[in-house]
Amino acid sequence: MIQRRTVLQRLIYAAGITAASTLPYGLVRLTMPEARADFSTHLRPPGALKDDLAFNSACIGCGLCGEVCPPRCIQFYQREGGDRANTPYIDPEQKACILCSKCMQACPTEALTEVPRNDVDMGVAQIDRSACYPWVDRGICGACVSICPLGERAIGFKFWNQYQPIVKQECVGCGLCVEVCPHPSLPIRIVKRSEGTVARHSV
Ligand code: SF4
Ligand code: SF4
Repeated sequence: MIQRRTVLQRLIYAAGITAASTLPYGLVRLTMPEARADFSTHLRPPGALKDDLAFNSACIGCGLCGEVCPPRCIQFYQREGGDRANTPYIDPEQKACILCSKCMQACPTEALTEVPRNDVDMGVAQIDRSACYPWVDRGICGACVSICPLGERAIGFKFWNQYQPIVKQECVGCGLCVEVCPHPSLPIRIVKRSEGTVARHSV
């Protein structure tokens, strides 16, 4: 009798594991705990639906965008991502987007749609002038201006100073400037366009 009960318990346990492993992503997300991690530096890949709820439903978590990305800058939320679990994000502090368009072309749903490079809108770069080296007269730098794939359209130098960077509205928020900034406190970051290109407390 004891043996039959043990066998039965094992069968129920195995059935539970199988059922859990075949749950569709949507159900897995519903059973996830609430998001707790800090996602403030994360960006969606280029061409992503702007509304995050719409993006989470459109993305099927197939991972294709991450596979085709040449610099491997696309990562995927895990359990701590809550209802974002399995969806893609980019953290430009680690690795930024080079605007090659491959992820937009690979996406099989409308989560990412292909847009011309100049129309990408991942956010806008914002500079904290109270920390950026040339802005506080702590030497020359210009790393952000040199790396920008859009060049003068997106970022240039203040006209009477060769090294103080100024971000323009045409910046598409790729984050390459964030990746290369040598300052330990990262005075350049990507923010929502409504937050502006200069940090409010800056000089
Ligand atoms: S555009 Fe290219 S570099 Fe940028 S996230 Fe997509 S695949 Fe990666
Ligand atoms: S985020 Fe930086 S590198 Fe990218 S377009 Fe804007 S200024 Fe250029």
